[in-house]
Formats: sequence, C-alpha cells, structure tokens
Amino acid sequence: MAGFKTHLTVSTLMGVGYGGAAYYMYHVPVPTCVLAGGLCAVSGMLPDVDSDSGRPLHESIAFAAAVVPLMLIDRLSRFELATETIILVGALAYVVIRFGAAALLKRLTVHRGMFHSLPAAVIFGEIAFLLASGDNVQLRYFKAGAVVLGYVSHLLLDEIYSLGIRRGQLAFKSSFGTAMKILGHGFLPNVVTYGLLALLTLVALKEPGWMQNVYQQHQQRASQYASQLGGRSADSNNDNKSEPQKLLEALKTEFDPTSSTR
Ligand SMILES: [Zn+2]
Repeated sequence: MAGFKTHLTVSTLMGVGYGGAAYYMYHVPVPTCVLAGGLCAVSGMLPDVDSDSGRPLHESIAFAAAVVPLMLIDRLSRFELATETIILVGALAYVVIRFGAAALLKRLTVHRGMFHSLPAAVIFGEIAFLLASGDNVQLRYFKAGAVVLGYVSHLLLDEIYSLGIRRGQLAFKSSFGTAMKILGHGFLPNVVTYGLLALLTLVALKEPGWMQNVYQQHQQRASQYASQLGGRSADSNNDNKSEPQKLLEALKTEFDPTSSTR
C-alpha cells in the first residue's frame, strides 16, 4: 500500500502537469490552472479518508472545511445576499464539514470500501463541478477533471503497489483489484454509491441551466425594481408629494442594493 506521502507526491506532480498543460495548450488563466493543480494534488489523498490511520481523513476534512465555504461564498455573492447571511452560511458549512462529515466518515467507512472505486472518483468530480462557480462551464469541467485525475491517480497507485515480484515472477497481493473497482462486496455501500452517482449526475447535467435561469430572473427583478424606483423618484420632483414622502423615497433609493453604482 502506497503511503500518504507517495500519494500526495504523485497527485501533486499530476496536478502540475494538468495545470501546466491547460495553461500552455488552452491558455486557461493562471489562477484557474493553479487551483486545478491544487485540487488534483489534494484529491490524491481523498480515497484514503476511509483508512484508519486518520491522517488523510484529518487533512481532507480540514481542507474541505476551509475551501468549500470559500467556494460557496463566491456562489452566494452572485445573488447579492447580505454579507452577514453569506458569512453565516460559510460558517455553518465549516462546522458541518469539520465535525459532522468527519464523524460520519469515521463511522460509516471501511478501508478499501467504496471510497476506493471508480464511481467514487466520478462522484467527487461531480461534487467539485457543482461547487465550482462561474459562467464558463468548460472551466468548471476543467476543475472537476482535476479532482477525478487526482483521485484516479491514488487508485492506480494502490493497484500498482499491490503488484510484487516473487521468485522473479509478477505476483498479485490479496489487495489487488480492491482499489480500481466498479463494485464492492457489500450490498448497501453499492446501492448508496450508485444512488449518489445517479443523483449527482442528474443534478450536474441540469444545474448550469438552473443557475442561469435563477440568476437571470434575479437580475430581471432587480432591474424592474430599480426602474420603478427611478420612475417614482422622478415623479417626486414635481412638488405633489409631502416632504416626509420625498425623504422616504430618497432613503429607499440610497439603501437599495440593486440601484447602487456597483
Ligand atoms: Zn488508498
């Protein structure tokens, strides 16, 4: 079994190659390349969150607890929510991942269970796709691809380490075939894995359209509201309205986030 450091080294090298290739061949912006490379590196330890040694679990959870809220903040800020609301959601996501997910994973997983499988690699890629923000779907696929690449590099390395040479001949250890598998032994883990895979695939396929719709509707409502307010404040110039009414409208315009100069 390859150790924590070996996995991380290999996935980091792959991440550097992946980000570098995207930069040189497709002129992907540097920050996106660096982020994708980093995601690939971290994903190289993800499958071992099921191991009993604790370090991959600890590191992955710490990383996810820090990065997922950041990714959420970027998404939520597109809806012009109040800053306090965004911070609260981010803090809540941190607590849920840091404590909830860690406890759940410790209890529910067995080493070399379904976390070491190809459908799990796709599931984590889909999660990355859904968390990644931005209008450019291609760049979101690029980040998701980084996660899948890092994840699969781990599975592949585990399989390579289960090969050995015995009396000059290639020998398979008993762990061979337990990393890059499609189906596990337990019925329930298989059902959960494939159920999750189906659900996330469906959401990932539909989601770019949803987000676009929701965002457009939000923008439309905001511009309608702004034009209504603009019309009203224009009316208020003819002195039909009382002073308090004018003041109230001026205040509304002042504090309306949609009519600001942003
Ligand atoms: Zn492993």
